[in-house]
Amino acid sequence: MRIALHALLILALTLLTQLGGIAWLLALRFRHRLLTFGLAYAILWSLALLIAPVMGRTPLPCFGEPLRMQSPAYCVLMRNYVSPELAAVARDAATQMTVTHPGTVTLALDGGFPFLDGMPLLPHLSHSDGKKLDFAFYYQGDGGYLPGQTRSPIGYWAFELGDETTCRPVWLTGRWNLRWLQSVWPDRTLEPNRTAALTRLFLADARVSKVFLEPPLATQLGLVGSKLRFQGCRGARHDDHIHIQL
Ligand SMILES: [Zn+2]
Repeated sequence: MRIALHALLILALTLLTQLGGIAWLLALRFRHRLLTFGLAYAILWSLALLIAPVMGRTPLPCFGEPLRMQSPAYCVLMRNYVSPELAAVARDAATQMTVTHPGTVTLALDGGFPFLDGMPLLPHLSHSDGKKLDFAFYYQGDGGYLPGQTRSPIGYWAFELGDETTCRPVWLTGRWNLRWLQSVWPDRTLEPNRTAALTRLFLADARVSKVFLEPPLATQLGLVGSKLRFQGCRGARHDDHIHIQL
């Protein structure tokens, strides 16, 4: 029973952070398990920061402007690693946004893990090679644009479109509506000019091959382009974030 629980914990930590399971495995040998886990995790985290760039994955910045991860939690969980080319795409777009819309802070969401091609960053099936990255929408309040703020505390799951019209319910889907959560989010609205401008930068970038945004929302924002795609009815909804891939 205890072995099964540890195995489950190792699996969960691996799926969540890639290296967290190894840290727990190391901690199992010691008496002060939580303390050892924290220490082992910190060491593995630091090693990833040093070694991943040599293996072809760059961490996106956790703090600062004009580009940073939406929450430091993405950095703690090591979900902010992408290929150097994708990091450059993100940096260039964020910088360009400050030229056309001064004061803009661009927030990245899930990217990828520091190591291994082919290991998906759940719940995203496609984020497995450092070539996919999600971005938060920009939001506004009564006083206008709110730099560095999102509606949901993790950047995801604050849906812009109302009741489901695009897809019929299917089994085994990543398309969660999470209707019960929607009333929890603070009263902020999408900042359409910046959100459209950022998406246009990705559509115009030759390094980007596809951009996922829910089609009705893309239409509302006046966006068109052959790279603009619908992820299909089994994939997650994309009316709460922008997904790009090389
Ligand atoms: Zn994505």
